[in-house]
Amino acid sequence: MATPDASGDALQRWIAGHRRVFALTGAGCSTASGIPDYRDEQGEWKRRPPVMIQAFRSDEAVYQRYWARAYAGWPRFSAAGPGAAHAAFAAWEAAGTLSMLVTQNVDGLHRRAGSTAVIDLHGRLDDVVCLGCGDRTTRTALQTTMTDANPAWQATPVAAPDGDADIDPAVIASFVAPRCARCGGLLKPDVVFFGENVPGERFEAAKAALAQADALLVAGSSLMVYSGFRFVRLAHEAGLPIAIVNRGRTRGDDLAALKVEGDVGTVLTAALATGDPSCAPSPQ
Ligand SMILES: [Zn+2]
Repeated sequence: MATPDASGDALQRWIAGHRRVFALTGAGCSTASGIPDYRDEQGEWKRRPPVMIQAFRSDEAVYQRYWARAYAGWPRFSAAGPGAAHAAFAAWEAAGTLSMLVTQNVDGLHRRAGSTAVIDLHGRLDDVVCLGCGDRTTRTALQTTMTDANPAWQATPVAAPDGDADIDPAVIASFVAPRCARCGGLLKPDVVFFGENVPGERFEAAKAALAQADALLVAGSSLMVYSGFRFVRLAHEAGLPIAIVNRGRTRGDDLAALKVEGDVGTVLTAALATGDPSCAPSPQ
């Protein structure tokens, strides 16, 4: 059962006691960067759940709405920079005892902060792939294409998770959704949508990294999505110590030896600042 601890002291000791930590991060690492998360402190949807892949592929109106909202939300999403949580993980990796960072976030902010041992479990929003021919493009280039196709289109967006934005439905109806320039197929950001699986190779790479780790830290995730939660189950089955830093309950609380309630950036910065993890004594 998790031990609630509002301070970073217990986490500092936990970090100091491990040599090869596998970290799993989620939306709570990026909220301070201005990217909203999906769920409240009870792990429930704060808003209408995101688009399911089946509807995106088969329903033209869903496809149009997705791209209109994504187009409107992109300027704010792409302007977000790394925050304290991202900086803390990058510093931890540099200190040598964070062996792998697997993120459920699609914003690329861990890499921008300087982390290099990163697996983007759910992909990256800045890559776009054609569902027909597999052609790839950058989201930046596609944004320009969409602007050209919608010269008079304007929306007043309210930022939502994953580069999405809330806009007036009447405005959505006039948006010209993009199509593949090569084959006319549907375009999709290269992220794992709800209803899709994580690509097998990516999961295996993350699983292999977990097998090399001596502990698991979850940071800023409610673990409501199974693709993230299954790493907690695997770690638990392997007997690895598990710590969780999150604001609010998570699906893994009963499997964790340590639970720290709070903002990831604040908690992790404090835990790493109170001691040098590379010089800490071994637990044995
Ligand atoms: Zn195509």
